[in-house]
Amino acid sequence: MTDAPVDDRTDFDDADRGWIASLDPAIVTSDDGRVVWDNDAYAFLGGPCPPTAHPGLWRQGQLVARQGLYRVTEGIYQVRGLDLSNMTLVEGRSGVIVIDPLISTETAAAALALYRSHRGHRPVTAVVYTHAHVDHFGGVHGVVTGEVPILAPEGFMESAVSENIYAGVAMSRRALYMYGSALDKGPTGQIGCGLGMTTSTGSIGLIPPTVSIVRTGQEETVDGVRIEFQLTPGTECPAEMNFLFPDLRALCLAENATHNLHNLVTLRGAVVRDARVWASYLDEAITRFAGRCDVAFASHHWPTWDPPRIVDYLSLQRDLYAYLHDQTLRLINQGHTGIEAAELLEMPPALDAAWHTHGYYGSVSHNVKAVYQRYLGWFDGNPANLWQHPPVERALRYVECMGGADEVMGKAEDYQRRGDLRFAADLLDRVVFADPGNGRAKEQLAGVYDQLAHGSENGTWRNFYLMGSHELRHGIVTSPPATVSPQMLRALSVGQLFDAIAIRVNGPRAWDEELTIDWEFTDLGQVHRTTLRNGVLTHRADVAAGGAELELTLTTAQMIDLVTGRGFEGIGHRGDLGVVGRLLAVLDAPDHNFAIVTP
Ligand SMILES: [Zn+2]
Repeated sequence: MTDAPVDDRTDFDDADRGWIASLDPAIVTSDDGRVVWDNDAYAFLGGPCPPTAHPGLWRQGQLVARQGLYRVTEGIYQVRGLDLSNMTLVEGRSGVIVIDPLISTETAAAALALYRSHRGHRPVTAVVYTHAHVDHFGGVHGVVTGEVPILAPEGFMESAVSENIYAGVAMSRRALYMYGSALDKGPTGQIGCGLGMTTSTGSIGLIPPTVSIVRTGQEETVDGVRIEFQLTPGTECPAEMNFLFPDLRALCLAENATHNLHNLVTLRGAVVRDARVWASYLDEAITRFAGRCDVAFASHHWPTWDPPRIVDYLSLQRDLYAYLHDQTLRLINQGHTGIEAAELLEMPPALDAAWHTHGYYGSVSHNVKAVYQRYLGWFDGNPANLWQHPPVERALRYVECMGGADEVMGKAEDYQRRGDLRFAADLLDRVVFADPGNGRAKEQLAGVYDQLAHGSENGTWRNFYLMGSHELRHGIVTSPPATVSPQMLRALSVGQLFDAIAIRVNGPRAWDEELTIDWEFTDLGQVHRTTLRNGVLTHRADVAAGGAELELTLTTAQMIDLVTGRGFEGIGHRGDLGVVGRLLAVLDAPDHNFAIVTP
């Protein structure tokens, strides 16, 4: 249970402050009529917390489900509750600057339309991406039609690509678990994810930034509005930045300080973030900006007003990440593994007493393990864990040793009855992995997952458990390949495109293949060479043409067409075109719908 003060209504007051209008109905559809966002589905959260939800998470859901256009301060507005993230609008001399255009073209367009219906038809004169996560750039085509400056932190594209392309398929499958977008909403179902309600499911795009923010203290004037930047690389995202509007006395905290404990590693998977650096940048934000702003807002949740409250809020957020970092290392250096440290680490009462330090999105438990992972990796140092059997092989042996499936299921029921749901889940997971055809075991495990979900303070844990139980009962929720749209592919550099192809090479199938292709890009004036040998596709930029088995003359767009199987149209060549077929023949398609709770 939470120690935060139940009768303190400050968060509700702040979440409602400046409300102008809500979208009614709060449903956004795509061109073909598909619902990509439905915030009205959360109307049930107006009621009291049922026994099937953690009171803290229910309260967070009530706050986050608020939806509409809000005035933050003179000249700054936010549209909240129309996607996982917020869109912030800053009025300039001739139009409006959009900070973070949500995930989908459709929700971004709806948010901008809501703003315009109350503030007039101001043209979008610039876009700012606070960082390289898809909920902060994916909807850009919903707000930008022509060419406008797009500002982003240095390293934005590299970060966007590595997080969304290289491991993108696995991450989006796991994100389906984490955000629960496919789950039914309701008191026993999805009630948000802590950071927002869920992810929209419209079309995702990316326009590369045109203005790179490369240093702290850099100032830019955009549409007549002065902005002073603070780079915060390695915090919530490898490329991220806070910034001050000195003339408006407003501070944008990107996603570095939100109204929950954030993730040091997200359950969808990510490179582990650095809690030490995160804390130090929050402290720098206090020293640089706190005396010069009357409101601090972020790209999730609601703003915080008044200088003393801003300092208090940022200080607690700083201490939260610093405490997690330092105390985990203290415990690690006493010989505790990540799993042990996660059980041992207690948060200080002063941090527990605030609402915004609670683990609705990140959790103390999985963040401690993330710190362990960052410093020491996957191995806990115990040789018994160095070379374990994979899950199915282990499960078969465990079930055999414990006397067969029925015996294990009976034992699991005992643990479940005694309230040890964690071990009940562990046992039943072995039965299911030993025999995925065991319907009774799957149903029993689904019931345990439901109970774990209903007790969880963390929204992403709740969603993971609920998706697990849903897929145990109904099979895999298939989803269309979400993250990589053609628009996004077109935003990549040639090197990134070749990287994306290289990770699809089926090694064993390519062991005996050897081929070289020169790619002469007419739009770039560059020749790149790719070589496939030893099952690896490597590439070099800026080579002198000649000597390859095949030379192709083409544009970047034609290259995307070629490797996505749309043929050779308009592409010039010298040499054996069959080489392309040999390359395509060794590429594997990723599996967008791989199994998680069954083998
Ligand atoms: Zn975000």
